[in-house]
Amino acid sequence: MTSISKELREELSRHFVIQPITLEEHQKSNDGTIKNAVKLFDGNVVESVLIPTDSRTTACVSSQVGCSLDCKFCATSRLKRMRNLTAAEIVDQVSLIDQQSKRDFNHPLSNIVYMGMGEPLLNFNNVVDSVKKITTPHPNGLGMSPRRITVSTSGIPKMIEKLADENLRVGLALSLHSAIEEKRNKIMPFSEKFPLEDILDSLRYWYDKTGSRITIEYIIWKDINDTKEDMNALVRFCQRVPVKVNLIEYNSIGDPEFQQAPPEITDAYIAALERHNIIVNVRRSRGKDIDAACGQLANKNKLTVN
Ligand code: SF4
Repeated sequence: MTSISKELREELSRHFVIQPITLEEHQKSNDGTIKNAVKLFDGNVVESVLIPTDSRTTACVSSQVGCSLDCKFCATSRLKRMRNLTAAEIVDQVSLIDQQSKRDFNHPLSNIVYMGMGEPLLNFNNVVDSVKKITTPHPNGLGMSPRRITVSTSGIPKMIEKLADENLRVGLALSLHSAIEEKRNKIMPFSEKFPLEDILDSLRYWYDKTGSRITIEYIIWKDINDTKEDMNALVRFCQRVPVKVNLIEYNSIGDPEFQQAPPEITDAYIAALERHNIIVNVRRSRGKDIDAACGQLANKNKLTVN
């Protein structure tokens, strides 16, 4: 910074440190998806993903090093939670992907999802600060619209309400995966503490406060949630609060218990939801060949240090 005096530069370096993330490694998938392994100042590594389509680029960012929750189908759950990311470390992942998007796809980053490693609502303050920084106009922020940001949670009712109170104007996604309590508790054991009724209450609170429809993220596994009973339970859940459903293609993490259900089951889910006028989309996973797809982020190439 040669535009400021030498004395001030020395004074600044005595009192402050700048700790940017560094790109440790990146891999590009056959479908254009880029997975970044970024190193933090303390040697920990997290992953973030650039997902391109013809007209837009989405960044999937991490909010924690590892995760303290225990979703059985998720590779990140196998990593111990080391620490929360700072707001700056989250914003840095976004800036890096914006640069990559401009360089490789000739357009800036258009959307951000907080769906990488970690549970964003368990790093609440830093996630909120990062959203504020991303949505603050230039030159103090990245100047992105909050409407293009989605915070995804595995379902912590009190924190969903707290996020609604922040009035950030971002979208909310809930990883549901089963609307049958006992079944959900088996797939996501931590959720025993958070009954579906409480989650529904918090979603209604979110909708009343923000007016924004919640996205339900739902993976269909063979022999786990592929029956009529599962479909009916999801329909009943979705009738109780304004939502849209994303059926997400599953990517194996090497556990034989979790296998993607056959396409006819997905079709049956779509038919059941549409019969009740519930909006449903099928989300094909991207970056499978480089373990960058949903649930696959596990620092496979770079293990966390410490
Ligand atoms: S799905 Fe999300 S909340 Fe669940 S273990 Fe994986 S990173 Fe954590």
